Amino acid sequence: MRKIAIVGGGQAGLSLALALLDEGYEVSVVTNRTPDDIRAGRVMSSQCMFDAALQIERDLGLNHWEKDCPPVEGIGLTVPHPEEQGAKLIDWSARLDRYAQSVDYRVKIPVWMQEVEQRGKLVIEEVGVAELEKLAEDNDLVILAAGKGTRMKSAQPKVLHRVAGQPLIEHVLACAATIRPQTTTVVIGHGLGGLLALKAAEQAPVGGLVLLSPEPPAALREAAAAHLLRDVPDVYGRARIGWSTLPEKLQRDHRDLTIGDVLRIQHLLGQKPHESGRARRSVLAGVPVEPKVFAEVPRLVIGAGLDQVVAEPVSERLASWLGAEYEPFGAHSHYGLIVGEQSHQQVADAIRSFLEAHRL
Ligand SMILES: Cc1cc2nc3c(=O)[nH]c(=O)nc-3n(C[C@H](O)[C@H](O)[C@H](O)COP(=O)(O)OP(=O)(O)OC[C@H]3O[C@@H](n4cnc5c(N)ncnc54)[C@H](O)[C@@H]3O)c2cc1C
Repeated sequence: MRKIAIVGGGQAGLSLALALLDEGYEVSVVTNRTPDDIRAGRVMSSQCMFDAALQIERDLGLNHWEKDCPPVEGIGLTVPHPEEQGAKLIDWSARLDRYAQSVDYRVKIPVWMQEVEQRGKLVIEEVGVAELEKLAEDNDLVILAAGKGTRMKSAQPKVLHRVAGQPLIEHVLACAATIRPQTTTVVIGHGLGGLLALKAAEQAPVGGLVLLSPEPPAALREAAAAHLLRDVPDVYGRARIGWSTLPEKLQRDHRDLTIGDVLRIQHLLGQKPHESGRARRSVLAGVPVEPKVFAEVPRLVIGAGLDQVVAEPVSERLASWLGAEYEPFGAHSHYGLIVGEQSHQQVADAIRSFLEAHRL
């Protein structure tokens, strides 16, 4: 395989392109902004890179600014308390073992683009699904490095786009299936992620499965009526996710969460203002899962009892259908299971005991 196209000329696409050019591959980077657009544009990220990532740039000889850029020697985080004037909810700082650096994206990226142009090919073009199909025809491999999935101008999650006859995720799974793992993999999924964990484990053997308050598969739910499915939009707005309301109200509804937990979850969800409604629709319509595949796999289902995001009896029914061990956490909410300051430790202990009991 010699001819590779990379969609997206950002941090990931360009460093990969330059590494592949070093290895003698024929590489084209197709991206939608010129070096001058980037130089004159907004700062796209705070771009602070830590030692491990800087080392990759050093190894590739891409660290042109290392001597001029000031070192970042520590990190701190302060969050003001929402109720007590002048008090701090979170306040910490620490020194880094090795320095980080923040080279302005508008300085670094145009220079790397010019290096790609000199040694390979740089194409300025907006890539959508049709252009992607064409790139797949003309190249031995197409690598998507266009940042967020939403930038592909499609409500379809990026990994579900079909390229060369099958969804991208299938290519990755088929490729991964040819590798003989040296380590044991335990897949852990929460909510919709629990269902994804089951689907991933169905296709590639895993050492263990842990499902936290998972969405049930088709066999355990009534398929939603057609008109309900039609009501789910392709892309969920943030408000529909249900966490854009007042922290105090959210804390009242999830009594296991502290105000700090609520703020943290809101912050995390705020990083991801949209959710795929298509994924939600598939879950409601029913995703088929074959339980026999897991007969030999140690499996644990953990249920949350405090709220009804996935009601505890639903998790219990799933555990019995899978023949899995079941651990109920009656006083914990769906989110509390994984991010609740007061509860995640107990959940982590339950997972640790399960892993130890099965020597995983
Ligand atoms: C506010 C903010 C702060 C951040 N701070 C940090 C930080 O301090 N440290 C850190 O390590 N990370 C940080 N990040 C994350 C970091 O910016 C990203 O992880 C990183 O830029 C991802 O690199 P990438 O190459 O995958 O995507 P990008 O750097 O986004 O590059 C994608 C490229 O693809 C192009 N493109 C997009 N769509 C198309 C299309 N349809 N066709 C053709 N080209 C397309 C874009 O123009 C862009 O040049 C931050 C992000 C944000 C938003």
